[in-house]
Amino acid sequence: MEAERSKEEIQAETTKRKTAEEGIEKDDKSTEEIKESSTDNLEETESDQDEDSQVYGPPELPPMPWFGMDIGGTLSKLVYFEPTDTSETEQETVTNIRRYLTNNLAYGEHGHRDGDKMLENVTIKQRSGRIHFIRFPTSQMHAFIDLSKEKGMAHTVSTVCATGGGAYKFEKDIYRELNMKLYKFDELDSLISGLRFIAENNREEIYYWQDPLNEEKAHKEIYDFKDPYPYMLVNIGSGVSILAVKSPTEHVRVSGTSLGGGTFLGLSRLLTGCTTFEEALTLAAHGDNKNVDKLVKDIYGGDYERFCLPGDIVASSFGQMSFNEKLASVKKEDLARATLMMITNNIGSIARLCCRGEGIDRVIFVGNFLRINTIAMKSLANAMEFWSGGAMKALFCEHEGYFGAVGCLLELMKTH
Ligand code: ADP
Repeated sequence: MEAERSKEEIQAETTKRKTAEEGIEKDDKSTEEIKESSTDNLEETESDQDEDSQVYGPPELPPMPWFGMDIGGTLSKLVYFEPTDTSETEQETVTNIRRYLTNNLAYGEHGHRDGDKMLENVTIKQRSGRIHFIRFPTSQMHAFIDLSKEKGMAHTVSTVCATGGGAYKFEKDIYRELNMKLYKFDELDSLISGLRFIAENNREEIYYWQDPLNEEKAHKEIYDFKDPYPYMLVNIGSGVSILAVKSPTEHVRVSGTSLGGGTFLGLSRLLTGCTTFEEALTLAAHGDNKNVDKLVKDIYGGDYERFCLPGDIVASSFGQMSFNEKLASVKKEDLARATLMMITNNIGSIARLCCRGEGIDRVIFVGNFLRINTIAMKSLANAMEFWSGGAMKALFCEHEGYFGAVGCLLELMKTH
């Protein structure tokens, strides 16, 4: 397994790459191609290039710079650990990467650096630095590989850890085009270690919604996560995974559902003609699901008292759409909102059942479905509290979609 590669193997590979860069392995076509295209950007001059291709950092650590990637079904998440305790030898490479990273043009049309999420004062294996967070659609992976090749990243990047299905799917392409070997790790192990690490390094990472349904009063409150176990972890990506995390070394995937963020975006596009996640959320913010869903009061004329079901809750998602007159007057905003509520309520119900089964009362919801998605977060917060009679708490995270990418980097460090 990649995760079990020894220090010697990694160093041997680094030496091999250096040798290739020095021109001894001239017959390696992909290395030659990278060399040819690399002089204009990251490696700006011939002497810079020699300097940049040096491996730096103490030999007991994997060669810097360090990148972690989570290549998911919809989005690829990339994190870069930028050391701030650099030696003279390291400085030039670090400056070059920084110049490139902070130039948003570097990401092409589709990539995006989440500058507001940058994490300062982080220590990994006695190295101090900051973590940068970047994402792009996985559908653009080949464009990303081409861009990296054009910018000569293979010369500069020494350690790339990867997780998510794409770490397997694109492994060969990345090796062929960039001459870069990925250190692959399991996505759920990575998710959990990334979350733990970021929560330890950012006091404000984990929060809950206070008064989630009160428009004026609703606000975020920081949650003190210093005694974290046990907790339920619900990762809402394209699909959903639910894990019971009992200790730093003990977790189990208890459930999941295929109705996740991918379903929300896919159905919203089908029903409303929107194209992006942001557009779908904007539509939902201006819509009313009551025009689409059948509520308890549409059936009972009020509450269903015997089972304490308030009249305003959804009895049947999209239930009104079986009537011609409702169908004729429905707006795309209402359809987007109903789609969002359907996906969110379903995930909330499954999460609650899992909590009950495992005897756990705290749930951390992560994944990019929750990115800029306050409607879903508030609705989950309210549902968890209401349906558990106040016994369960929904928690959320500032770096919601990036834990896997950070975690796979940390998984590699465990082997050193
Ligand atoms: P995965 O690893 O499966 O790609 P993520 O945690 O990255 O999962 O979440 C993907 C989901 O995030 C999408 O299905 C969508 O609901 C939501 N999302 C948030 N931002 C975007 C975006 N810019 N483009 C596409 N989907 C987005």
